[in-house]
Amino acid sequence: MKIVAVNVEKFHYRSKIVRDSEGHGHPGPEQDAVQSLLTIKTDDGASGSYFGAIETGTVEHIVAPVLVGEDPFYRERIWHALKERQRLNLSALPDRVLTAVDLALWDLAGRVLGQPVHRLLGAARDKVPAYASTMVGDDLQGGLDTPEAYARFALACKERGYPAFKLHTWQPPLPGAPSVKRDLAACAAVREALGPDVPLMLDPFHYYSRLEALELARGLEGLHFLWMEEPMDEHSMSSFVWLCEQTSLPICGPETAEGKMYTRAEWIKAGACDMVRGGVGDVGGITPLVKVAHLAEAFGMHMEVHGGGVGNLHVLCAMATPGLYYERGLLHPFVDYDAPLPWLNESVDPMDDEGYVHVSPKPGLGMDINFDYISDNRVGNRELSLRV
Ligand code: MG
Repeated sequence: MKIVAVNVEKFHYRSKIVRDSEGHGHPGPEQDAVQSLLTIKTDDGASGSYFGAIETGTVEHIVAPVLVGEDPFYRERIWHALKERQRLNLSALPDRVLTAVDLALWDLAGRVLGQPVHRLLGAARDKVPAYASTMVGDDLQGGLDTPEAYARFALACKERGYPAFKLHTWQPPLPGAPSVKRDLAACAAVREALGPDVPLMLDPFHYYSRLEALELARGLEGLHFLWMEEPMDEHSMSSFVWLCEQTSLPICGPETAEGKMYTRAEWIKAGACDMVRGGVGDVGGITPLVKVAHLAEAFGMHMEVHGGGVGNLHVLCAMATPGLYYERGLLHPFVDYDAPLPWLNESVDPMDDEGYVHVSPKPGLGMDINFDYISDNRVGNRELSLRV
């Protein structure tokens, strides 16, 4: 079996999420947005797909020359070949492109073998408890504009079935942000609303100083939080070692630091985290994320998976030392998260009333793609198709 084509289809959809000047999503007026579907096809008619922000030029000049002619089951070889091409093509070939290629190859393998990806990896479970993960704070009335608003929303999430809750608090460019005192006020309000037993987590502003991060950590110790993520710039690993040495609050990371499984290994060795963090989008796919999961297992640590989505869910269902939770979100009082994305016929992470997200039993990644929607909304009515 050989790969003969790599296709990128760009299509329009209507989005109700707007981005602020720092890139954080908030509910807003409906506007046009663009998504891409990457599909890898073989000489015997098999295919695998994944979505992502992928430029056709990158596929044409960097990805297709590596993939076309390859055996699609040689995922390690393909992943390393692309990773090595990042050195001189870093702006054109970010980790999110490696992620899309790797997930499309896993999807293809599952479809060929008639098995869902978590069973190919070696399944440990078929459902994972979720936590409600909020959008960052805002100034929308009835949104996430005050500590009390977070408390009200946390209660609504508990009612929906979520067993745990994570706050993303206020960030620039919002006036008054960042603020350690306001972050702690929101965390205290949520703790008071949900009572002492519900696991809570915080993901605050990411560029606090050491002393500000320690003040936050000490406050969260008293509120019995389960973990805190990324309160400082993750490029300063020494700052995280310093923080871990001074707080009993578990610190979870790294999340956005570049370097795939190599960075995670260094953080564990240095004592810069109590829980390892990684998601398919952070490290370049399922293939490297499984390495991080096994690395964490060998050190007796949890890997708490960053972000939702079908790739992360399959990895979570294949981890013997489990990640505690699936991150479901980002959630907001004005957003109907349970509705499927416009290009899918069903949600990839349906959650039952007990707060468990169930992995799809369908072959591959298990996404039910609405191909009619994609072709009806194709950008420029052009499909890039590269063939040998
Ligand atoms: Mg985070």
